[in-house]
Amino acid sequence: MESTNQEHAPKPDSKPARKAGGKPRASNAFTTTLGVAILLATLFTAWTPTSIFSNSFQKQLLLILTPQAGPNTVINTPQPQLRVGIVAGHSGNDSGAVCTDENGQDTLTEADVNSNIANFVKDNLVAEGYQVDLLNEFDTRLNGYRAVVLVSIHNDSCEYVNDQATGFKVASSLDTHDINRAQRLTACLVDRYEKTTGMTFHAGSITADMTQYHAFSEIDPETITAIIETGFLYLDREILTTQTERVAQGVTQGILCFLKNESVAPTPLPTTAP
Ligand SMILES: [Zn+2]
Repeated sequence: MESTNQEHAPKPDSKPARKAGGKPRASNAFTTTLGVAILLATLFTAWTPTSIFSNSFQKQLLLILTPQAGPNTVINTPQPQLRVGIVAGHSGNDSGAVCTDENGQDTLTEADVNSNIANFVKDNLVAEGYQVDLLNEFDTRLNGYRAVVLVSIHNDSCEYVNDQATGFKVASSLDTHDINRAQRLTACLVDRYEKTTGMTFHAGSITADMTQYHAFSEIDPETITAIIETGFLYLDREILTTQTERVAQGVTQGILCFLKNESVAPTPLPTTAP
């Protein structure tokens, strides 16, 4: 897991200075071993014919100089799991956008759609070996929240706007120490969600609700985060409710693209809003 997940490298507690002096122990050990080896080689050359060392002593020396842990040695220490946060938009707080029928009866809430998607995303990531926190909209755990990545799942209005009010939106938090990684998260989510669901990126109508999403300023600035609106509840209702697993797979693949440092095309520039 360590080698394929490069995105977690700067752990919260690690200091950048470690880069330069990261392997003092290994190189010291190597130098010492090399020194002993040269010394012994000299000794053996000088003394071998006289058999000054007993057989058992030579064996012990060989044992000391032979690496005991080869490259194929299985290390049983469990790797620490990488933490990922998923916010089920509006959960624990309000219903978000609401769809009503011609009699004014509620037929669908954004909170329910968000929650269904978020649960599938969580299951997918847990199956991939990640430790996933499923969070409410105003979860107290969001204060100073630390994870490799946090993604909040929302959906857009159930009002009919026009025929172009379909597709998804993504905005990442720029309140981070690492803008490049935040932009990579956006690019990953846009590219993989588009490919998995066939839906189009609605770049032109990303609102302040998204770019100034409350959680962006609550979490630890080391946590890379984004909000995705996976569709419009009116025109995209069918895919959101009948192909929820596919929608969730799109979000999952976007997050995995980021976590596994997969190559991704840059996010297309915003086009004119419909
Ligand atoms: Zn919402």
